[in-house]
Order: sequence, then structure tokens, then C-alpha cells
Amino acid sequence: MIGLDSVAPWVLFERFLPWMPRMRQILSHSRYGTLTSIDPPITVPAWAVMFSGADAGTLGLYGFRHRRPGTYFDQYLPTSRSLREPMVWDHLSRVGRRVCVIGMPPGFPPPHINGVYVSDFLTPEGGAEYVYPPSLQPELDRLTGGYPFDVRFRADDRERVGRELIEMTRKHFAVARHLWAKEAWDFFALHEIGPDRIHHAFWKFIDPRHPRFEDNSALRSLAEEYYARLDEEIGALLDLVGPEAQVLFVSDHGSQRMLGCFCINDWLLQQGHLTLQGPRPTAGTALEDTSVDWARTRAWAAGGYYARIFLNIKGREPNGILTPDQAESFRVHLTDELAAVRAPGGGSLGAKVLLPREIYREVRGDAPDLMVYFGDLSWRSAGTVGHSALFLDENDTGPDDSVHSFDGVYVVTSPASGATGLGSPASLIDIGPTILAAFGLPNPPHLVGRPIAGFL
Ligand SMILES: [Zn+2]
Repeated sequence: MIGLDSVAPWVLFERFLPWMPRMRQILSHSRYGTLTSIDPPITVPAWAVMFSGADAGTLGLYGFRHRRPGTYFDQYLPTSRSLREPMVWDHLSRVGRRVCVIGMPPGFPPPHINGVYVSDFLTPEGGAEYVYPPSLQPELDRLTGGYPFDVRFRADDRERVGRELIEMTRKHFAVARHLWAKEAWDFFALHEIGPDRIHHAFWKFIDPRHPRFEDNSALRSLAEEYYARLDEEIGALLDLVGPEAQVLFVSDHGSQRMLGCFCINDWLLQQGHLTLQGPRPTAGTALEDTSVDWARTRAWAAGGYYARIFLNIKGREPNGILTPDQAESFRVHLTDELAAVRAPGGGSLGAKVLLPREIYREVRGDAPDLMVYFGDLSWRSAGTVGHSALFLDENDTGPDDSVHSFDGVYVVTSPASGATGLGSPASLIDIGPTILAAFGLPNPPHLVGRPIAGFL
């Protein structure tokens, strides 16, 4: 399995295909199509959903950052220890299959499996133990000259970002080839974060539909070069894999142009649901750096690809004011108000409000009270306050040109099925159960994902 983070159908099947001769050849003898992502379509939890068949609520993963219960602003990032359901490689390990997993998030600390696990892009910088078994780490260090987990990508020096991403991906695939050659693996999976970073840093140079499209041939070419090099690395790995293997390319979600940011906390202030003490903060101030008047605050939010709105509930929050009944009627009122928000052009902003208890089989961990998408996620949510307008052209957390979308991809090369051509859309949550079925293992019945017949 080769996991290409953030790759949308347009990216792989159209925009960069001319720079990917190997992928063109792969597509000619494979079944491919759209892989529909999850709620929310974010790297963490999407890969964990894919490899468990459990929904994000059951896993207790709602994105990168989670609020610590009983606090207003304390946040934690999930790790591999946060996983509340076994992944495909845990099931396979249990029945004695040999598995190798490189970079699947959340993968730090590297889980102990029957084989090798190299941790993911969320690995903390410097000195961490990132390989299981640790005895392998020195040889991966030697091979790569220091294993690169990620690149600082929300930055203005796009040339540096592009070059570092090409180098990072090259090293990841060198590790993959090195580990592939070690033994006859039953299951081998590689995650590459590079495409996601390329999209964030380069989307406005590659997509004329971007509202701030820039016709810059050097940066456009650098993004195309990234995909050309990725294609070569994929080819070099598949040359080792041989024709008898089932090969699956997948992405966790797609990407699309970022229209801008909607300032969710400034909006809550304007609506009178959030109240600050003291003078108006300067533009771009984090809400936690202001003085919130909690006695006059019904709701506050955290920004990101989607808005996480929290209600200030009596007995749950340190200075809560809403009784559970009041919270329920306020939630309905807030949903109506959000639906009425207009985009800068005058049309609806397309707010879509999701309630964790309604969309997940179980709500474990620390879910927001409301999850809100704007414009099918083409508008990010800015959590910072003090802006002079409710809409920003740029991400409030650094230069950024793309946001996520719901359509990812799959490409299946299967000597067993022999299927080719464009296939029906498949669901990300069904991929893990489909892999288990291919190994003759039962699907855990309490999960949402189901094996896809004839897929592999
Ligand atoms: Zn992702």
C-alpha cells in the first residue's frame, strides 16, 4: 500500500499525470477511482479510520488538536497511544503475519507489531526513538543521513519548501526499498506526507481556479518536478515488488483551493455569544491570549480546516453558564445563525453543522460540541480574533494555498481480480476491513467499515 496524503482525483488522474509516466502505465492495468473520505477529512483521524474500519468518534480522534476536558484552551495532540481500536497491522500481527509500516499517522511512538514500524510526520524533532524494533534505527539513520519526518511548509520561501520535499520523499522511498528487501512481507504500507505539503505551498501556482492564482512558471515547474520525482520513486519501489503482489494506492482526503478564512471567533463576538474584557485585541490575536468574560460567553471556537465550537456548559466548563437544556436550545439557535452567514460575494457561506453524537457510532475522547464546515471546506476557520473583517484572504497561521476536500483516490492493481478502468467511488472506512478480508480475517462486527466485494 502506498498512501499519498491529500491526493485528489484531479491531482493524480489529470493535473500531474503528464509528469508521471509510471502512474500512467499503472492506471492502464489497474482499477481506480474516488475514495470518499470521512468526517472530518483530516489526516488524523483519516488514516486511522482507514486502517481500523472504526469511525473517528469511535477512535476519539477529531483532528490534530483536542481540547483537554475541564479546560478552555489546553490542547493535546493524539499519538499512536491514543488509538482505541486495533489497526490492520495489529490484527495481522496477532495471526503471525509479517508486516512493515512506514509513516502511517498517528505513528509515534512506533507501535510494537510483528515486523517493522517507522513513525510518522508527527514525530517530535530530535533524538526520539522512531523505529520499532529500535535495533533498526542506526541503519535507517545511516541510509538517510537523518530520517526526515516533515518539512516546514507554511513559509514564504516556496523554492526551499519544494526542494526539501523532493529530498524528503526520496529518503522515505529509499527506506521503503531498504526495508522491502529485508524479507517477504505479508503486508507492506508506506505513507508519504509530501503531496499534502506540496499542495499547501504550491496550489495557487498549479490551479488557475485559485482566487489568488499566480502565473509563476518556476514554482509551477517545481510542483510538477515533485510529482515527476515521486513517480520515479514509485516506479523504483514497484520494480522490486514484482507482478504477483496486490498493490493499492490510496489517499486520506483530497485537496482544493483555499478561498480564505472565516473568522469564527470574531463572528461569535459579533453575535454576542462570546464576550471579551478590556480593549479590542489586535488583529490575529489568539483567543487564549485575550481576556474572555466567561460569565457572558455561551460559545467559543478553535479554528482549522473546520470550526470546532464549544459551548460553555455549567458543571462541565470551569465557568460554565448554560444548563444542559439551555445548551440544547442555544445549539439549535446557533445552527440557524450559522446557516444565515453570507460569503463575501453575497451567496451563502454554506455552513454545515455536524453533531458528533449524530454522525458517529460512539463519541469517545474529547469531541467538540459542534463541527462546522464552511463552503464544503473551501473556507478555513480562523480562531484568532481582532480582525477588521470576518473574512481573510490568507490563513491566519501562515502562508497556505490549499484546504482539504472529501474526494481522495484509490488505485488497485490486483492480479487476483484483474479489474481495470474507472471504478465506482469507494469509502475510505471500508479499506481496512477489505484488507482483513483479503487475508481471510473476520471484520470486527462493532465497526462501521465493511469489506468491499471484489475490490482486491
Ligand atoms: Zn492528509
